[in-house]
Amino acid sequence: MKPKRRAGGNDSVSRIGEFGLIERILDKFSVRNRRSVLVGPGDDAAVIACGKGAALVLTTDMLVEGTHFRLEWSCPEAVGFKAVTANLSDVAAMGGVPVGIVVSLGVPASVPTRAVDMLYRGISGALSRFGGELLGGDTVRSERITISVAAVGTLAGDRPLLRSGAAEGDAVCVTGSLGRPELGLMLLRKFVGRQGGSRGQGLLAWAGRRMGDFEGRIPSAIRRDGYACVRRHLMPEPRMMEARLLARQRDGAPSAMIDVSDGLSSDLRQLAVASSVHILVHEDRVPVHASVVRSARRLGVSASRVALSSGEEYELLLTVPPSRLPRLKRAMQRLGAGSLTVMGEVTGRARGSRPGTVTLVSVDGRRSRLTHKGFKHF
Ligand code: ADP
Ligand code: MG
Repeated sequence: MKPKRRAGGNDSVSRIGEFGLIERILDKFSVRNRRSVLVGPGDDAAVIACGKGAALVLTTDMLVEGTHFRLEWSCPEAVGFKAVTANLSDVAAMGGVPVGIVVSLGVPASVPTRAVDMLYRGISGALSRFGGELLGGDTVRSERITISVAAVGTLAGDRPLLRSGAAEGDAVCVTGSLGRPELGLMLLRKFVGRQGGSRGQGLLAWAGRRMGDFEGRIPSAIRRDGYACVRRHLMPEPRMMEARLLARQRDGAPSAMIDVSDGLSSDLRQLAVASSVHILVHEDRVPVHASVVRSARRLGVSASRVALSSGEEYELLLTVPPSRLPRLKRAMQRLGAGSLTVMGEVTGRARGSRPGTVTLVSVDGRRSRLTHKGFKHF
């Protein structure tokens, strides 16, 4: 077997990828102040003790034009909304309650002020719906529109829900249903496409665009379902209420939790690796949104494959001992929370230096190892 080449100083980032790069950065750091830093890098958010059992949750996520959104396929309000919900979802994934955000904004000098107004309308809308206040930020000129948000939350006396607590025998569950963001992106690519014109014209068109404008671009035969998917891609919603409910369960809380941000395949793997366990997931038990099932049929793609690779879902992926499941489901029902679906189970512990793995049982019964199938930054 060929020995694996260790990433040296002359390697490009594209060879090691996003996760390799993060690993390389974090390799050189370890938490020194364990009394204050309860959870360091590696989970959805860091957790910092702040006296008398209180703790803060801290996370950051950035949206960059050309990487996370295109001018032709987005509108300023949606970009602002998503920049907030991406962060609040990580607060939720730890079981936290959002307190507020700081927003660092980079815009070209020629961007219409109306676009910035609409971007902040999206920010304000997301904060009113999901919690938290605007606490501050920074404003700079940049070539491409960049919006970097950091969110802070509290744990309200509950234990943080980590990626690392999954144990053999646990059920593997997910809230809600998956697939809309990925299908929405496919539709934007197919029916909205790229527009010509200068950068100035592109910025002007972006500034004037509203969410509803996308509806008319989708062929009438799949308009309703298609627009539901596009909407979810552009304005995803985090599971704040469900996360709090899960964190509040005294002896019924999940053993591990992560939000679905890179795609179920990738996030299952993150959870398996962090917990050093093997996970088995049944493709036919992955909950797929009805709009995705119908649209996928018309487009001739596999709905469950769309659901497995769909990123920016912001549903919660969690493991829980099966004995706790009925109580958890009842509690969710009582509060009018979304559904919780069991897709698989934790089948064993990873041994020695081998990382955790995820096996997918396909609809036709075949088994395959799931790898990172999420969005590739590099
Ligand atoms: P998420 O999808 O939940 O936002 P990421 O995959 O972006 O998480 O990051 C995984 C972990 O690595 C997080 O704990 C994050 O804080 C940390 N991380 C990511 N990028 C960096 C970086 N450039 N420097 C330090 N830590 C980082
Ligand atoms: Mg996350």
